[in-house]
Amino acid sequence: MKELIHNQRAYFNTNATKNVAFRKAQLKKLKAVLKQNEALLYEAIFQDFKKSEFDTYSTELSFVYHDISEAINKVGKWSRVKRARTNLINFPAKTYVIPEPLGVTLVIGAWNYPYLLSLAPVIAAIAAGNTVILKPSELPSNTSRAMAKIINENFDANYLRVIEGGVAETTALLAEKLDKIFFTGSVPVGKIIYQAAAKNLTPVTLELGGKSPAIITADSNLKMAAKRIVWAKFLNAGQTCISPDYILIDAKVKSAFIDLVKQEIEQAEYATTNHNYVQIINESNLERLAKMIDPAKVIIGGEIDRVERCIAPTVMDNVSFEDAIMQEEIFGPIMPIITYESLAEAIAKVKSYPKPLSLYVFTKNKAQRAQVLNELSFGGGGVNEAIMQITNHHVPFGGVGESGIGSYHGESGFKAFSHYKSVIDKPTWFELSLKYAPRSAKKLKWVKFLMGQK
Ligand code: NAD
Repeated sequence: MKELIHNQRAYFNTNATKNVAFRKAQLKKLKAVLKQNEALLYEAIFQDFKKSEFDTYSTELSFVYHDISEAINKVGKWSRVKRARTNLINFPAKTYVIPEPLGVTLVIGAWNYPYLLSLAPVIAAIAAGNTVILKPSELPSNTSRAMAKIINENFDANYLRVIEGGVAETTALLAEKLDKIFFTGSVPVGKIIYQAAAKNLTPVTLELGGKSPAIITADSNLKMAAKRIVWAKFLNAGQTCISPDYILIDAKVKSAFIDLVKQEIEQAEYATTNHNYVQIINESNLERLAKMIDPAKVIIGGEIDRVERCIAPTVMDNVSFEDAIMQEEIFGPIMPIITYESLAEAIAKVKSYPKPLSLYVFTKNKAQRAQVLNELSFGGGGVNEAIMQITNHHVPFGGVGESGIGSYHGESGFKAFSHYKSVIDKPTWFELSLKYAPRSAKKLKWVKFLMGQK
């Protein structure tokens, strides 16, 4: 690790990665090698957790390809030196802001969307002109191996390298001085990363998780709410960071909502054999989820197939905030339903939890929509929609409070891997004498005037 980081730093210091044409060429190459090896990528992820080609393309590779194309098209604009206004006291200087890469960067990926969550930050790091070490999650071992093979066989290790491994390898990487750490994963590991980074004052982006609520008010379009929530909840078998974790619904409409949820689940025919459902990533996560299911509260699903590593889409009714399922992020295909009597009560409850990564409100009532959006803090979210906010690359994606630090996607990703260097550039043919001795009341007056103060 030490040698790799040393060599990447030496390569970064040659300034080769700062060249915009070089960055574009690397991005084009990455796209080409991914396309050439697409069959391997599909096969690996299917072996890991039976994720189909349809789901892999629509929820991962399409975003990866889009990000690469966008970065190629826009890196020239993003990396351009930007002129800024100059204040009067600095006349006749010019001021500009130079975006510069940070240096040797480390991307640590999560397992649930293994290609997207590893490669999207790598694309942003390359676009910003850094060298990159990617440490994908070790849990989907085939996808990790596939990325290592594709990247390590095609890129110079001094520029872009995949290091496979788990805690030991990540800990060894974190012991070294890095210029940026971009982490996607759980809150507890996020805290470990932040502490390790603090030792060297390394900047971090932490894309974490948490319990994201879906609030349904009495006057929402219940049919559409059920349709969109069921899709969002059971996509990737609930193993999605921005999945609606639990439902907070006005007690008056709960039973109507449950009927509609049942219809939606039946229509979707979730089954790994249909290729429209995925496995739980491993046995330990399956057992963790199994413990959260309270059979007395299950009203839909609840079946666990340990051989197939599969949990049927499950809905639990009459759940309270004290239940096991409400003590941690679910990250699986279980939908707990909790009722509320007043929206104010629901808002107060959400506020008592750490700030969620996402929050969804299903309502036709403008005042209630405004109330939720104004009063609650969350990373990002939707009104009458869930998960789809992530597909819009025109807006930043990230958490707040315990759900994360920083953001990415589109230009935000470029910014996450850049420093913006402000420079004052002053000619030598003129110099104000105000800052020099001797000081006087008259000079102070001028200083006040030139600094814009009366
Ligand atoms: P995780 O925190 O267990 O693992 C993430 C990465 O950290 C992996 O690469 C892993 O090898 C590494 N790691 C694990 N333990 C470590 C340790 N002790 N020291 C150093 N590195 C360590 O998370 P996960 O299970 O892969 O992903 C699930 C979590 O990630 C959920 O909480 C989910 O909400 C969150 N998530 C967030 C986003 C987002 O964009 N905000 C996206 C996907 C997942």
